[in-house]
Amino acid sequence: MAVLVTGGAGYIGSHAVKRLLEEGETVVAVDNLYRGHAEAIEALGSVKPGTLHFSETDIADRDTLVRLMTEHGVDTVMHFAALAYVGESVTEPLDYYRNNTAGALSLIEACDKASVTKLVFSSTCATYGEPPKVPMDENTPQSPINPYGWSKLHVEHILRDYAHACRVNQKPFSYAALRYFNVAGSDPETLIGEDHEPETHLIPVILEAALGVREKIMIFGTDYDTPDGTCIRDYIHVCDLIDAHVAVMHALKPGDERFYTLGIGNGYSVREIIESVKRVTGKDFKIEEADRRPGDPAQLFADPGKINSELGWSASFTDIDEIVRTAYRWFEKHPNGYAE
Ligand code: UDP
Repeated sequence: MAVLVTGGAGYIGSHAVKRLLEEGETVVAVDNLYRGHAEAIEALGSVKPGTLHFSETDIADRDTLVRLMTEHGVDTVMHFAALAYVGESVTEPLDYYRNNTAGALSLIEACDKASVTKLVFSSTCATYGEPPKVPMDENTPQSPINPYGWSKLHVEHILRDYAHACRVNQKPFSYAALRYFNVAGSDPETLIGEDHEPETHLIPVILEAALGVREKIMIFGTDYDTPDGTCIRDYIHVCDLIDAHVAVMHALKPGDERFYTLGIGNGYSVREIIESVKRVTGKDFKIEEADRRPGDPAQLFADPGKINSELGWSASFTDIDEIVRTAYRWFEKHPNGYAE
């Protein structure tokens, strides 16, 4: 049997591929290489030679997915392939609905045709929108405030209805939707790492400033109702996130539907992240205070109690300096990303 990983050349998908290969799984990675990196796949080829199969395929190409699933005996899918910039989703909503929602529909249809029995879906805390309270958990109402969040919530709904039909038709299908917070850090062995173009995420942006790749870091908003006036977010290490995927994959039983909110359960402010980067890198850099970024709530952090009590998962990286350190190691080696 094999696991098909969509978006396998992307940041989170590539970490999933590495982990699955290390666990002895046969992995079929698909990626259209629009924002993924062929170099990541090349690097991953060395983990367990012969057990990674890569196909440059878009998830919209249902027939190719069915062929790959059938050829390799895929029984489980981990679905990461998606566009993931909130701001871009506001200006280009159709791209988000086509790639994220219609793309997932095509993938689920392929799963149906190829009798795939488990699917772990990379959802997002953006499906919760602006929460009435923090920490957020699975009972927080899902009310997205941007097309990115909607594009993923629609997929949760498609999965819900498909899983229901499978139960009625006695087809053995199960799925989980994992709603992540801010994913951070990189493979501690630096085989693969975080490389977005454009880069907008806080930790890599600050690291770029520390390494002189970027002129300065801008703090978006210093007048929030938080202890230091800057936004608070929950930064979960990418390896912890993948641990959770693997635990969920193993736990899924036919007919299961599982939803988990994935974060470390603790928030850090923008200023705290900047201080952490200074401690870890020993470097100083230019900081500019700017206006709030539209649509940024003051505080978002998770209550990961459900996945902890049901699957025994909790984040192993809870110290922000440790998380930043793994990101720094990668950036030190690859200040310009994979392109170098
Ligand atoms: N942020 C910032 N400067 C930047 C990038 C991000 O002040 O150059 C802030 C942003 O306003 C948010 C937090 O850092 O409060 C995390 O932003 P990121 O884009 O990394 O993730 P998001 O929480 O938007 O998914």
